[in-house]
Amino acid sequence: MERVKCLIIGSGPAGYTAAIYAARANLVPVVIEGVQPGGQLTQTTVIENFPGFPNGISGPELMENMRLQAQNVGADIRSGVAVAVDFDAQPYVVTLDDGTDISADTIIVATGAAAKYLGLSDETKYAGMGVSACATCDGFFYRKKVVAVVGGGDTACEEANYLASLASKVYLIVRKPFLRASKAMQERTLNNPKIEVLFEHNTLGLYGENRLEGIHLVKRMGEPDETRYDLPVNGFFLAIGHNPNSEIFKKYLATDETGYFIPRDESGVRTLLPGVFVAGDVADPHYRQAITAAASGCKAALEAERYLSSK
Ligand code: NDP
Repeated sequence: MERVKCLIIGSGPAGYTAAIYAARANLVPVVIEGVQPGGQLTQTTVIENFPGFPNGISGPELMENMRLQAQNVGADIRSGVAVAVDFDAQPYVVTLDDGTDISADTIIVATGAAAKYLGLSDETKYAGMGVSACATCDGFFYRKKVVAVVGGGDTACEEANYLASLASKVYLIVRKPFLRASKAMQERTLNNPKIEVLFEHNTLGLYGENRLEGIHLVKRMGEPDETRYDLPVNGFFLAIGHNPNSEIFKKYLATDETGYFIPRDESGVRTLLPGVFVAGDVADPHYRQAITAAASGCKAALEAERYLSSK
């Protein structure tokens, strides 16, 4: 079985930053890219809040730069998905989706998070036929069409604005009477003439013959003036947050009730298992920014280096 000094699972800002630091510390890191190489930022448009890019940078370009930077300093980046782990004894063993096992002296888990769905059976029924959790991936198919986006956070507003550049009309379905997004994003959304915000609305179901044709909505659910009606739309985009990708590690690493890792201490990256570190969104229910993920990837790699040199 192949044995490596440092195995990094995940290839978002946390994974690639960990790889850059680990490679420069001669840990010869191997990065397992995961289901979505480059992570969630590959599905965003312009990033204006990552320092160093005065005019912003596209998410895919930023991630490609990080990948190249990690490779240039010596990281070994491999496609593949970690499907099982054995952390019972050292060296730890990670099994990939092609059946390969890799053993490692240190592991950095930077597996990120995945989009949440409402849990309606219709979401599965119309998956790929009108339902999507990624506007930048699928928006192209809705040029001059009518779409709805669910959610009131930054992601929902960003997706609504992106879709408004393609679609003829965008409904933003928000369950509260206000948006949770940052002030700047709220303003951009409320001032976009193509976006209509439907406050205090919930989605009950979806309908359509062969593909999505509309949604069953309820306004002010449970109130005396509750109103139910159908809204014809061609596309239905989920933007209601994310679930951390921590499932295969739960036997060994502590998580909170929603699945985010609970680090051992204020480092934010050390766990109760010696040599196992966590970084990025999978361990961060609070900030979930590219820059905070990158920072924790850096911390995890520095901790891995310290751990190895102390042995
Ligand atoms: P958030 O958790 O911030 O927002 C989720 C939204 O979805 C909320 O409006 C929430 O409603 C709504 N929601 C959740 N569950 C349901 C449900 N079952 N039915 C209907 N609505 C639901 O997630 P985001 O993905 O928007 O953002 C995550 C983090 O990433 C945030 O910190 C955000 O600031 C950041 N971010 C920053 C960006 C940027 O700076 N460019 C871009 C995108 C994200 P409610 O308010 O009622 O809970």
